[in-house]
Amino acid sequence: MEAMDWKAATDMLRAVAAAIQQHKDVLTEVDSKIGDGDHGIGMAQGMEKGLAKLDSLADNGNAYEPFVAFGKAMLLSMGGASGVLFGSLFMDGAKGQPPCASLSPVAFAEMMERALFSIKERGKAQVGDKTMVDALEPAVLAMKEHAAEGFGAMLAAGERAAAAGVEATKNQIARFGRAKSLMERALGFQDPGATSVQLIWEAMAGYAAQREGKPRP
Ligand code: ADP
Ligand code: MG
Repeated sequence: MEAMDWKAATDMLRAVAAAIQQHKDVLTEVDSKIGDGDHGIGMAQGMEKGLAKLDSLADNGNAYEPFVAFGKAMLLSMGGASGVLFGSLFMDGAKGQPPCASLSPVAFAEMMERALFSIKERGKAQVGDKTMVDALEPAVLAMKEHAAEGFGAMLAAGERAAAAGVEATKNQIARFGRAKSLMERALGFQDPGATSVQLIWEAMAGYAAQREGKPRP
């Protein structure tokens, strides 16, 4: 996939929503270990509202629009810290950009990089703090590195980096969110938000691979 237009963006977001909804119980289970067990419920709810919002849109030729609309619907429906942060993941990199008919891989990676900056600014977490940032930052860096190879390879690199980031959270003590109060007792458990980031990249990479007619690695 060389470029992502409005249609591809909405189709990819639908694939993301389906993946999160399918993994609702896994996310809740992961959150029940070191949080309050609502992450899957919140994310699934956000996806439902995001999908409904996509259904209400018509192709306006701006590939950034579905991301803004989807993220905003998440933000308004999810509530709590993660609603703002995951809404920002889709919305903040796309909002305020000049309309663009089709995003290049570089433009997409830069959109996600702006979202990463925004999430770090809002939540104050850095890599190592056992949050979604531990999957997102490596994913963004890997995408920027592989952007010249097209969407499929770029998103697959992001997916691998996010997965490694989730693994790394198992060895971290949380500095934010509900897991913070557990201190060392959170060791051995992966971060729920990072797990969602991994699932999102897995779904986006899967969509691109399917569009490119390539088997999944
Ligand atoms: P809550 O913590 O309100 O129950 P969720 O369970 O939906 O919300 O989401 C928890 C996830 O939110 C955490 O696993 C973490 O990845 C992410 N998170 C929480 N606080 C922050 C923060 N300050 N910065 C980045 N991510 C955060
Ligand atoms: Mg929770």
